[in-house]
Amino acid sequence: MATTELTGAEGVAWDLSDLYEGAEDPALEADVAAAERAAAAFRERYHDRVAELDAAALAEAVAERERIESTLDRPATYAHLNFATNMADPARGALVARLHEKAAALETQLLFFSLEWAAVEDDRAEALLAEPVLDHWRHVLRSARKFRPYLLSEPEERILTEKSVSGASAWARLYEEQLGALRVPLDGEQLSLETAMARLYSSDRDVRAETSAAVTAALEPGLRTRAYIFNTILLDKATDDRLRGYPTWLSARNLGNETTDEAVQALVDAAVSRYHVPQRYYRLKAKLLGIDRVAHYDRFAPVAESSEKTSWDEARDIVVGAYADFDADVGEIVEGFFSKSWIDGPVREDKRTGAFCATTVPGVHPYVLMNYTGDRRSILTLAHELGHGLHGVLAQPLGLFNASTPLTTAETASVFGEALTFRRLLAAEDDPRRKLDLLTGRIEDAIATVFRQIAMNRFEDSVHTERRTEGELATERLAELWLESQAGLFADAVDTTDYDVWWSYIPHFIGAPGYVYAYAYGYLFALAIYRRYEQEGDAVVEPYLDVLRAGGSKPPEELARLVGLDLTDPDIWASGIDALSDELDEAERLATEIGLTTDS
Ligand SMILES: [Zn+2]
Repeated sequence: MATTELTGAEGVAWDLSDLYEGAEDPALEADVAAAERAAAAFRERYHDRVAELDAAALAEAVAERERIESTLDRPATYAHLNFATNMADPARGALVARLHEKAAALETQLLFFSLEWAAVEDDRAEALLAEPVLDHWRHVLRSARKFRPYLLSEPEERILTEKSVSGASAWARLYEEQLGALRVPLDGEQLSLETAMARLYSSDRDVRAETSAAVTAALEPGLRTRAYIFNTILLDKATDDRLRGYPTWLSARNLGNETTDEAVQALVDAAVSRYHVPQRYYRLKAKLLGIDRVAHYDRFAPVAESSEKTSWDEARDIVVGAYADFDADVGEIVEGFFSKSWIDGPVREDKRTGAFCATTVPGVHPYVLMNYTGDRRSILTLAHELGHGLHGVLAQPLGLFNASTPLTTAETASVFGEALTFRRLLAAEDDPRRKLDLLTGRIEDAIATVFRQIAMNRFEDSVHTERRTEGELATERLAELWLESQAGLFADAVDTTDYDVWWSYIPHFIGAPGYVYAYAYGYLFALAIYRRYEQEGDAVVEPYLDVLRAGGSKPPEELARLVGLDLTDPDIWASGIDALSDELDEAERLATEIGLTTDS
């Protein structure tokens, strides 16, 4: 890391003094103590009494509950950010751990409130929720009751909760341990699965093919055990869903994501009926790589190596410019992240890798962490995180509870901001070869986020359904269903030879059934709004900003209506894919223009 080229980001450090002067700041411990006192007082005041509260008292209680959480979130956020820039400092790590324990203890102490609220009879709850004094808290309170129709009696719930520790979560842990212990022999070394998989990004096809063969072989031992674990999880979930009365295997997940079975089905239909888009891309990619057909292990191969670096200052101008073109006020907000030191920019030793935005920092603006390298991807990552930052700034006035978004809408502003920046980068590029690189990078991101996830959702759908109707699935049957789901996606555009056991290393299937579609949902939701912006221009600016200002105070389908979109309509989901298809047209045209492909 010490040899990283200079990008001009080296001196870009965030200023955490808006939170605290330092880890020793007495205000930090004072906030922790205040939160603990307030939590004890809250419990004293409301425990066993939630059912008796009238609407005004309920509003006061939720406001207090939010205040307590915000008070402790501030030191916790500080600790998390302070640690992220120097993870080798044990004192910083210890503060994170200590505040984590405090937060868990506080959560346990206050849990009664949502449980008692969820236990209030429907008629009474609805009467309370109809009162104007609860306007601000209606969504928060409604959402806390969303699982209510599927709850069992209190003793039953207690047994399920206690037994889950030795049930589903025990199986999930065994699975993780199995995967963690897996070694891939390559180059005379025993590599972890993750390190081995990274070699699939190599530009050398022999390296990729060898890696793929080694991974396939390494997945073989223990395969039956992993298949058994998967079967057990499938059955456990089937039992749970039956007892609780969920209509489909995905319904509980959809409810958690605050969306509906209809909207998710529309999303899936839109993507599945457009599998020809990724297929078309993989045919183009084969030509760009100079091979007949892409094999599954070629999908992440780089199509070009661009060594060109962009300085931090240029990247700032590009990203701020993209946001400012969209809307001047938005540009100013984004500019503020740079001028007010809300970003930690460079790659530094002992710093957390990757990038993130701490969106809801109670009472304070968001912070962005980057590991800026100066390559293209890095500029788009900056745009992505600043989208989260913008979302945070706009939604923050709603307070902690209403500003927090579910997974399904959390990526709206980030994906949108990336699209704005991508368009700007593309427009500024004259060289057709570099234009093509930009486009292929973008299309591959979209395929990974949308189509790959939907194909995995189709696999999950088939196994959950078949486990419920046919009983336990043999290891061979799991492989068949996996290949079927992948063949749907790839058709003849990708060779899937020796790909049949690759279902068995995807942790989401075990640890979070039904999770994967949310990536596609969030991405296409944002792109559908972006498409509308491309078509209608400035008329979409204010409605879109209203979506961001609403944070998580409304479910996705209601947010979508603010910009005139109906999420149960497959055409809406398809409109995001159409944007992708246009980019693919452009990529094909450029490839022909520069003579990289001969036909088409
Ligand atoms: Zn993100």
